[in-house]
Amino acid sequence: MKLLGWLLLALIGFTQARGKFERPSENERLQALGNRFEESSTLQILLTPDDEFPPIQPPRPSDWLAMHTETGQNFEKYRDSHANQPEETHRTIYLLPIGDYDEESSPSLPDIRAYAAAFFQMEVKLLPAYLPHELEFEPRQNPHSGQRQLLTSSIRTFLKTQLPADAYCLLGITMSDLYPAPSWNFVFGEASLNERVGIYSFARYDPVFWDEPRSKDYRSLILQRSCKVLAHETAHMFGLQHCIYYECVVNGSNGMNETDAEPQHLCPICLRKLHHTIGFDAMKRYEDLARFYRHQKWFEDYDWIQRQLEKIPSEKQPASRDSL
Ligand SMILES: [Zn+2]
Ligand SMILES: [Zn+2]
Repeated sequence: MKLLGWLLLALIGFTQARGKFERPSENERLQALGNRFEESSTLQILLTPDDEFPPIQPPRPSDWLAMHTETGQNFEKYRDSHANQPEETHRTIYLLPIGDYDEESSPSLPDIRAYAAAFFQMEVKLLPAYLPHELEFEPRQNPHSGQRQLLTSSIRTFLKTQLPADAYCLLGITMSDLYPAPSWNFVFGEASLNERVGIYSFARYDPVFWDEPRSKDYRSLILQRSCKVLAHETAHMFGLQHCIYYECVVNGSNGMNETDAEPQHLCPICLRKLHHTIGFDAMKRYEDLARFYRHQKWFEDYDWIQRQLEKIPSEKQPASRDSL
């Protein structure tokens, strides 16, 4: 977060140690959630910070919070920030694949679309892929790894010209590795709240990228990582800043290990923020996510969602519950 309005995720090469991170106390976490009793009775239950939401762990030496000072964004601060909000005429999230997606090392684009639709409860449309010519987007060879990389600002400039009239935002998704400036090593993604465009790379999610062997279900791992980063980065497009309160998909991350250790779900504070801005039915959101997780055989995430849904008394549960 070097420039106002820009949110950058996972920057390798940022080595300057910052002040020690103080984990918020239970009372501070409760205060950050604000008065959940202002919400509907169902949402109040789903926002209750119980054992399903472990407080954020102390950062390891190379973790995001060991290297970056984050003061936290409580619910009230978020509400007062008047973040971008989907409007009647701007309610669609567009995904624009940039470059090739080979089946062996890429996430399934229809699956990415379905996950984003469930997570944000908005219409998500997949645009036909844009195939840049060889010299487009200021490609370079990474001076250390030799990896071919594209410049994020150059892609953003292009994306701004492609924003559909009814778009809430336009997200470029690419299998090319990215760099945000010549002095940087790489970046996973970059999003601009003001300009409503973002660019995310899925280049580093295949174990092969890290010279690690592929497991039998490595494609599921690629999809899981891609979904997690898409959820995290797109949450920034709704004005959510990094979460410092609970283990949460909106926690800052310095690399793949840290991202892998983060949960796939939102903590109560971040759920309340996203609900405030999008205004979805929180039960339906969990049901849609459960359906997606079950289809993907991500049973740990599926079971977690089921436990959330089970908190709601049966008379408040829609009939469709049984079909999950
Ligand atoms: Zn981030
Ligand atoms: Zn959170």
